[in-house]
Amino acid sequence: MERVDIKLGFYCNNLCKFCVQGRKRDFLPAKDKQEVIDSLREAYDKGKREVVFTGGEPSLHPNFLELVKLARGIGFEQIQIQSNGRMFAYLNFCIKAIKAGASQFSPALHGSTSEIHDFLVGAEGGFNQTIKGIRNLKKLDQYVLTNTVITSKNYKDLPNLAELLVDLDVDQFQFSFVHILGTADQNKDWIVPRKTEIMPYVKDGLDIGMRAGKRVTTEAIPYCFMHGYENNVVESVMPETRIYDAGFVVEDYKDYRVNSGKGKIKRKECRKCKYFDICEGPWIEYPNIYGWDEFKPID
Ligand code: SF4
Repeated sequence: MERVDIKLGFYCNNLCKFCVQGRKRDFLPAKDKQEVIDSLREAYDKGKREVVFTGGEPSLHPNFLELVKLARGIGFEQIQIQSNGRMFAYLNFCIKAIKAGASQFSPALHGSTSEIHDFLVGAEGGFNQTIKGIRNLKKLDQYVLTNTVITSKNYKDLPNLAELLVDLDVDQFQFSFVHILGTADQNKDWIVPRKTEIMPYVKDGLDIGMRAGKRVTTEAIPYCFMHGYENNVVESVMPETRIYDAGFVVEDYKDYRVNSGKGKIKRKECRKCKYFDICEGPWIEYPNIYGWDEFKPID
């Protein structure tokens, strides 16, 4: 199903040390309700049937529930909330969101302990709230797919985190390599691990999920690191996505990632690799830090 991603604003009650949106919250207000409605209508007319509300923290937008309901009224079949998950600690809020029409929930969990998660999201108590949120959503029989940003501070914890996610009975989880933009760029001296170092932990985490029958994926880790796990690379199955960002629209997110010169990149040697046509390569900022030595073309 083709997707539209709508950023409702950049306010957030977390202050993640890897946030790609940086400090946009300081100067960009929540999007006006009418602007969001216009975006929803335009995207629907262009054939999109799945909407992802994101931000910032979309659940804190003053018209959040109303916008979910409006999206359902326009005809969107799937309504996903990409969130830090903290508002879902309030059971009543979950019930209202579901009643409004939300059908998939994507909370972010970045560690198996409050020590790791709260440090990375810069919010004491964030871990407990997000965990409670996931439990509430599962109690209400909702589809929950979590995202975890892989950083130098949590990669060794990924197997423990995978165990926790299985215990919480999430339906799907994803490990996404940190994108060195915004706050992550400011913290790039310490927050970016080497891809070769993280891989044993990533693969252990994926194994734990797959053994439990979960759908598990990775993002921004090219195929040359994913031997034996090629089917877990999410980029090959991402739907065509239009993005309404702050004051601009990305018509096709894949095209942006691969062809804009600002997203992902491959090097000359990649042409020899059997995955060249389907691989997007790493985010462009990664080789600026660690070079290309780790990327070995596959015969
Ligand atoms: S095309 Fe390049 S980045 Fe992609 S898997 Fe092959 S060597 Fe790695």
